[in-house]
Amino acid sequence: MNTKSTIIKAGLAILIASSFIACKPYKYAESDKEYKRLAKGFSKTIAAMPPLNQQIDSLSQPVDFVGTVNMSMRKANYVMIHHTAQDSTAQTLRTFTLKGPATSSHYVIGRDGKVYQMVNDYLRAQHAGVGKWGSVTDMNSSSIGIEMDNNGTTDPWTEAQINSLLTVLGSLKKKYSIPTANFIGHADYAPGRKNDPKNFPWETLAKKGFGYWYDANLEPAPENFDAVAGLRIIGYNIANLPNAINAFKIHFVQDDAQNKTLTERDRAIIYNLVKKYQ
Ligand SMILES: [Zn+2]
Repeated sequence: MNTKSTIIKAGLAILIASSFIACKPYKYAESDKEYKRLAKGFSKTIAAMPPLNQQIDSLSQPVDFVGTVNMSMRKANYVMIHHTAQDSTAQTLRTFTLKGPATSSHYVIGRDGKVYQMVNDYLRAQHAGVGKWGSVTDMNSSSIGIEMDNNGTTDPWTEAQINSLLTVLGSLKKKYSIPTANFIGHADYAPGRKNDPKNFPWETLAKKGFGYWYDANLEPAPENFDAVAGLRIIGYNIANLPNAINAFKIHFVQDDAQNKTLTERDRAIIYNLVKKYQ
């Protein structure tokens, strides 16, 4: 053995040893396996001809299945943004890889801007729960969920995190032709039940085409303007009005987010927004 090859071998040994030290064990092998098992089940359901469990009973004749050649996968038409209310991305990844909490989202974005995808965009994540926005009552089926790592109380939003979010939103908006109005928060969809994302830079997002924001020069709303109907036009479920007002303020009037009654300024904001959302 010559000296050169000995040196190369020794170098390789150091490299291998150091890579073992640097690599932490992969923590999600088990949940990845379960993801694959579930996805395989869905692909079987999708490929079955005729489709399984889609019988329509009580017809005078049975339904015949004839496969068309013109079809594609369904796409999300909304994006819903959350804060995780947890202390770290690792904690959120752990929660979303456990069966017990039964929650997940398509994307998780860390404070450092690192993006994790946990569900295929074409599949249904479990992030929205019970709620209503416009006439949509199953937002899990209609939306892509994005969880922003933030404890929901004292955490500031970092530039890296918001920059990553804007990049993800740009990609999703383009890929799935998501309308500007359809970028919403969890609190918008579930007033009274959810308050996330809190203190969120919605205005920054709106400037980039993700949701709307009101004009800087607000004109007062006319006296006969029905602000409650305005909230409904924007998308809020007004069944419980104080909660709807609160959700509106969490999004659009963050300096008065605790208040559940409408001020003249709120009425002017709603009057201005209605023209954009309708
Ligand atoms: Zn949420």
